[in-house]
Amino acid sequence: MQKAQTYYKRKLINLGKFLYNKGYIVATDGNMSIRLNQKEILITRSGVCKGELKTGDVVKLNIENCKLENENFKVIPSTEYQMHLAIYQNRPDVNAVVHAHPVHSTIFAVTGNGNILDEKILTETEKTLGKIGYVGYYQPGSNELAEVVGKSSGKSNVMILAHHGVVVTGQNLSEARHRLERLEFLAKVTLLSKII
Ligand code: 13P
Ligand code: ZN
Repeated sequence: MQKAQTYYKRKLINLGKFLYNKGYIVATDGNMSIRLNQKEILITRSGVCKGELKTGDVVKLNIENCKLENENFKVIPSTEYQMHLAIYQNRPDVNAVVHAHPVHSTIFAVTGNGNILDEKILTETEKTLGKIGYVGYYQPGSNELAEVVGKSSGKSNVMILAHHGVVVTGQNLSEARHRLERLEFLAKVTLLSKII
């Protein structure tokens, strides 16, 4: 079990580096989690650069009661932990959740145009993303945001959060990451295609 935890912590650390180097997150933005078993997830710590995570910056949370593995560590989990938990509670098939602020997708989010992103314009996005969800504005880290995203995750694997960023889910971390990459590519292509 300990081995599995160390393995998944490493995976989250590597994903953080990838997202940061790609510019999908800046400064201390974004958060990621992975389901360890039916009861627990591993999630990134709040307020640190996710491109420079150490193993102590990934914490274990109970899906049902949100309790930290060891309250004495005083490691604060992501402010969006309720949003992650709401998705895991609503989607038993989801084992990984990634929240990021990639530039092109976020342009659609801040201009209130999240719902015009059409996954059907590219075969790969139509096949792998499914219907893109669009969630109105709710304060980051709020119960309200968690509740609405939890509901929306029942219909969508990828969601645009108005005036904020995106959330993607997957059966594993690679699938979630690939969906994030494809969503951002779709947003870039959609945006640039308006020039012609
Ligand atoms: P955390 O550092 O608390 O995970 O917050 C980052 C973020 O993107 C909030 O929406
Ligand atoms: Zn955010």
